[in-house]
Amino acid sequence: MTATDAFTPEELDAGEALFGRPWVFIKSVPSLEFLPDPDRPEIAFAGRSNVGKSSLINALVNQHGLARTSNTPGRTQELNFFELPGLPFFMVDMPGYGFAQAPKAKVEQWTRLVKDYLRGRPTLGRVFLLIDARHGLKSADRTVMALMDEAAVSYQTVLTKIDKIKPTDLTRMHQATADELRKHAAAYPTILATSSQTSAGIPELRAEIARIANG
Ligand code: GDP
Repeated sequence: MTATDAFTPEELDAGEALFGRPWVFIKSVPSLEFLPDPDRPEIAFAGRSNVGKSSLINALVNQHGLARTSNTPGRTQELNFFELPGLPFFMVDMPGYGFAQAPKAKVEQWTRLVKDYLRGRPTLGRVFLLIDARHGLKSADRTVMALMDEAAVSYQTVLTKIDKIKPTDLTRMHQATADELRKHAAAYPTILATSSQTSAGIPELRAEIARIANG
């Protein structure tokens, strides 16, 4: 079964409709007291630095530069909120993690913010956990997965940059990732495979988000 088979044409259309109008940046949240009221469902994107998170969000919304890359100073250690005007729903870009030589203070700041957010956000419907299709799950990902299991936050894996690997390697990576996810209580069983470069998997990710946004 291909990823597309999992969605009806109506669901794919709903995804296209959701991202057919411009999304806007609402605010950057450096600590929890600045969070917007939890008055609507929201989803969040998480992943190691350089996993392709900004590129994926920009591809989803079809707007260059809505999400800033990790190389942009500022904004990167914050939760960035986006919305589609008129729709009671938030998309949240979480700060990237896994910086090998990061100063301790930076890691601690990240950990505090993300832990508090994951544990305390009642309206967080799903986290899309981005994994580079070439590298698979790494220890930093497993740390975040453990956090989400503990906080009972549902998360779904999205393989990124699939244009960079051969189909046979992608199949193998898909299988290995699925095998590991089965051991995690809060992991969503279906894995999405995407490329911001070729747009592979983007309609499916849009449809998945539309399912959540439209209740
Ligand atoms: P972030 O740190 O997770 O926000 O990652 P970025 O979106 O900044 O991407 C990191 C690097 O990977 C950049 O050089 C991107 O051009 C590249 N990249 C991101 N997505 C893709 C993709 O789907 N295909 C390919 N080939 N490169 C990608």
